[in-house]
Amino acid sequence: MTKAVKKLAVLGSTGSIGRQVLDIVQSFPDKFTVTGLAGGKNTSLFMNQISQFKPKLVYIAGKLDLPGNVKLESMEEIARHPEVDMVVIATSGRVGLGPTLSAIKAGKKIALANKEVLVMAGEIVMAEARARQIQLLPIDSEHSAIYQCLSGETNKIDRIILTASGGPFLNHAASMLANVTVDEALSHPTWKMGKKVTIDSATLMNKGLEAIEASWLFAVPLSKVEIVIHRQSIVHSLVEFVDGSIKAQLSMPDMRIAIQYALSYPERLANYGPPRINLPELNHLTFERIDYSVFPCLTLALEAGKNAGTYPAAMCAADEVAVELFLQKRIHFNQIAEIIEKTLSLHRSIEKPTLEEILKADEWARDTALAILSKVT
Ligand code: MG
Repeated sequence: MTKAVKKLAVLGSTGSIGRQVLDIVQSFPDKFTVTGLAGGKNTSLFMNQISQFKPKLVYIAGKLDLPGNVKLESMEEIARHPEVDMVVIATSGRVGLGPTLSAIKAGKKIALANKEVLVMAGEIVMAEARARQIQLLPIDSEHSAIYQCLSGETNKIDRIILTASGGPFLNHAASMLANVTVDEALSHPTWKMGKKVTIDSATLMNKGLEAIEASWLFAVPLSKVEIVIHRQSIVHSLVEFVDGSIKAQLSMPDMRIAIQYALSYPERLANYGPPRINLPELNHLTFERIDYSVFPCLTLALEAGKNAGTYPAAMCAADEVAVELFLQKRIHFNQIAEIIEKTLSLHRSIEKPTLEEILKADEWARDTALAILSKVT
């Protein structure tokens, strides 16, 4: 019996995750085909992707000369299109929220890489997913690891342990971080990723977002999500059960393994190229405590997660603005945290917010972060 080919919509196809998704599609032509693509600013890459994967539906923000048989649609339309089986949310920032909800309401399978979707609107998104019995398959390596550890388990989780490589500034004193350059912040020791997530990994904001995301995805309170420094990025995360037993998932730091698992779930497809672990060669794996004083963004994220309401949305928006300003060399590395902190201190959170209120908080935080910029520089 031949299995049906899974028809994918890949939103954010020109980003780092999107390109790796298409690499997998290309390697398994009998498993996946591309029905929809949504790209970012790299229009020449997007045009190449369209001619190679021949989607019926595409979305791009700017103007583009599309082949006659390709239809321009919004990301929401693509996400709910009847010919799409699975929607891969590989966008970043708030733009993934609308298409994710649209895909859930249309009953699609979802592979989720866009962290802000759950950080901003976890309660709403998870309630919609539960009501329609939609599984959100995580693409992020940590959440994929936890998902794999929980496979077949019906027991309650005692603790989730997220691993963090610590980024390029792990052993720096807080005072040394004021003058680090954009290039230094972009040189991650173990992972190759897009710019926004690489800077978020240098501030450890990324780990804060992941902790909040994990708490929603796996229905555990944030207080039960622990973060441990693991320099080698081999153990992608762990789950501790009530009996004290811990399960972990290991693989080399290559996102394609986690992406492939989400795309083909519940089936595991054969390894088509990502490097495998050679245990004796690894020699040793280390785990250390985090020094929170070096990473104020992590504390800010965890506090926003704990305070809930519209705090996480405001925090995500302020971070997006601050990281962009840092990449443009308009602020110092330390000022990323400063801008987020000041924005959050001015924020009036709404409890149990609606989607509209969340998007309003996002807008407000962007404006406020920019207004703060004129005062810190
Ligand atoms: Mg991650």
